[in-house]
Amino acid sequence: MTQTPSARFLIVGPQGSGKGTQGVLVAEAFGVPQVATGDIFRENVKGGTELGKRVQAIIEAGDLVPDELTSELVRDRLEQEDAARGFLLDGYPRNRGQVDDLEAFLSGRGESLDAVIELVVPREESITRLRQRAIDQGRTDDTEEVIANRLAIYERETAPILDVYREKDVVVRIDGVGTLDEVTERIFAALATRGLEPNGSDAHGRSAGAA
Ligand code: ADP
Repeated sequence: MTQTPSARFLIVGPQGSGKGTQGVLVAEAFGVPQVATGDIFRENVKGGTELGKRVQAIIEAGDLVPDELTSELVRDRLEQEDAARGFLLDGYPRNRGQVDDLEAFLSGRGESLDAVIELVVPREESITRLRQRAIDQGRTDDTEEVIANRLAIYERETAPILDVYREKDVVVRIDGVGTLDEVTERIFAALATRGLEPNGSDAHGRSAGAA
């Protein structure tokens, strides 16, 4: 059997861009774990763990958990066996400090990100979707005030990290407006142009077992 190529991805987009949903689809297709820091924090809050107690107030205000804590959490997760061949990061790194932490960790292992998926969604569209999510899911950080804070942090701290990855030429920019399926298709098509195709495809893009 040939060595399966690595699939190390990061998905970046504003709150309400659909990155959680799309991220899961990409991770599943490539057979790698999705690592979503927001989900991990929320599970810990729900479970009343020590970590959960430390981060609850921060999350409810829509502020960022300290970099040191977040980066350590992610490193621990990426050191697990199932992430050896790849992973899809969602929600981390979220600022320059976290980019530096991640890059130091990966380069120490001789690794780097294969693609950074940028989901582009206009601010008004994000806000509309988040208002709907507040109704559907009742997330405690989906109140108007907290949404505004999270979007402001995104624009100020998270969007600029894309410049770092653009310099490394790993960013695939995807229009995030459209149906879920349309956006998914755009993502897979863009990854394919970079030779990144889900398991079962060989280097020539043929599916294993396909005639
Ligand atoms: P969203 O992207 O919609 O704000 P997430 O589920 O990604 O939602 O994150 C929820 C909250 O978890 C954030 O508002 C923040 O408080 C915390 N959080 C998640 N990821 C990070 C991170 N990389 N650094 C710091 N805090 C984080």
